[in-house]
Amino acid sequence: MTQSLAQTGGGRVCLIGAGPGDPGLISVKGRELLQHADVVVFDALASTQLLDLAPACAQRIAVGKRAGLRRASQQQINEILAAKAAEGKLVVRLKGGDPFVFGRGAEEAVYLASRGIRCEVIPGITAAVGAAAAAGITLTHRACASTVTFVTGHEDPAKPTSAIDYQALSNLVTAGGTVCVYMGAARLAAIAGCLLQNGAAGEIPAAVIQWGTLPQQSSVLGQLVDIADLAATAGLGSPAILVVGQVVGMRDLELSTKQPLSGLRVLITRPQHQAARLRDKLSAAGAVVLDAPTIQVLLPDDWTAIDEALRGASDFDWLILTSVNGVRILTNRLRHLGMDARSMGGVKFGVIGSATARALRRYLRIDADLVPPRFVAESLAESLIESDSMRNRKVLLLRAAGARPVLAQMLRTAGADVREVALYHIAPVDSLPETAVAALQRQEIDWVTYTSSSTVHALSQFLDDPRVLHQVRVASIGPITSRTVRELGFEVAAEANPSDIDGLVAAIVASVSGVGDRVPAPAPTCSAHQDCP
Ligand code: SAH
Repeated sequence: MTQSLAQTGGGRVCLIGAGPGDPGLISVKGRELLQHADVVVFDALASTQLLDLAPACAQRIAVGKRAGLRRASQQQINEILAAKAAEGKLVVRLKGGDPFVFGRGAEEAVYLASRGIRCEVIPGITAAVGAAAAAGITLTHRACASTVTFVTGHEDPAKPTSAIDYQALSNLVTAGGTVCVYMGAARLAAIAGCLLQNGAAGEIPAAVIQWGTLPQQSSVLGQLVDIADLAATAGLGSPAILVVGQVVGMRDLELSTKQPLSGLRVLITRPQHQAARLRDKLSAAGAVVLDAPTIQVLLPDDWTAIDEALRGASDFDWLILTSVNGVRILTNRLRHLGMDARSMGGVKFGVIGSATARALRRYLRIDADLVPPRFVAESLAESLIESDSMRNRKVLLLRAAGARPVLAQMLRTAGADVREVALYHIAPVDSLPETAVAALQRQEIDWVTYTSSSTVHALSQFLDDPRVLHQVRVASIGPITSRTVRELGFEVAAEANPSDIDGLVAAIVASVSGVGDRVPAPAPTCSAHQDCP
């Protein structure tokens, strides 16, 4: 075999299963490789959120059928993969579900092998497994279903030489087994008809699940005899999985796997690098989460005032940080200046919010000397005055540009000498992900979460018609964010208390389960939640 450039240059192709749709369902290994890709070659069903994981400089090549364009032929795809690997690149071939389940992964792997190009396969959760779980259906069960069969519905079952043995499939479902049909959305009536003609009983339970695991998931449950009509009436089309078998009738499972936020679609508006905790908590509560980062954190052009303050930090009695962003930027700047926590002398640290305190411990290994009981500026000022009077105290306040002046004002009134330094500023992003805007416009979002006033302003600015937000329930991190929501003419359905991510998720869960639908009236003096930008 001729040795290819790829072998000498270190290029290779990773065929990665992207999972059924929810970007959280890619494997850890697949995600890590994606994060290092030089080139990503993807199909129409690939999630844009997964594509965003690839480095910004990675080349992205769409080879699926999209917006009227013809999909690339298999030969063209093979050649693209080989050519990019031959340039010495790490090529990620991202495929829906699993690459080796109706995914033509084998054709690509065999072609690459014939060219002497290294190819690795990272399996994924195939659509039938993902969609069934998302619809509360087990594919096997000790009591009734000992087999599960994956079959393509792509070919016309009426074709005289069908590769599918419908007699065998009918026997399997009659014996209690489960049959999952891929690519059959357009032929449901013909497929069900073939199973019936071959002896399967009309009462065998069946389900069709479209867009399984995605925010727009919808499904119908019925029997073999009526499932095609039910799906047509509900307007279900491709991509969908037909599941036939006794397991579909075990509806108790749906109840036992139901989470407090099951079936609800929740939009996150905070910057992506800060969204992980909220995303994880919402997903754990059963919600389907969409990212729409509305704002970005921008570093200063001129560091002079910051550097000067940091070099003199040991002259201060207190150093105040109001956000995780502040802690992160402070840490990096200290490192840049060749300083660390020891250079700060005996200065004490006051922070707003448990997340800021956690970040201080993690990044600078410093335990905050003061975290106020409420995560708002007033509470921090009150606690400082109570614990250390503040008379003639020198305070360095590191915060975002444009932050409300209340904290500095209260400390000055108490006699402190306050130096305010802006570490960063917040600006709207350039654009929102198209998927999120489309979902809002199609009224597919149930909840939107706001973690600061700037996220509220930014989201409405991005929408052609912000009135679509009237269809969405609002969850706010705290009183000032709620006030901004109301000023823009919207209602607040859930408000976090305490004003942190756990409080936010708990408020949504309480509202959904009907125990928390009273949102406190706006407090007369309230402060920006300081735990977020
Ligand atoms: N390799 C993929 C299958 C590709 S064939 C896998 O392992 O899942 C494409 C078919 O997969 C679609 O026609 C549909 O039947 C199914 N499919 C893909 N994503 C789906 C989803 N989110 N929900 C339901 N069916 C899906």
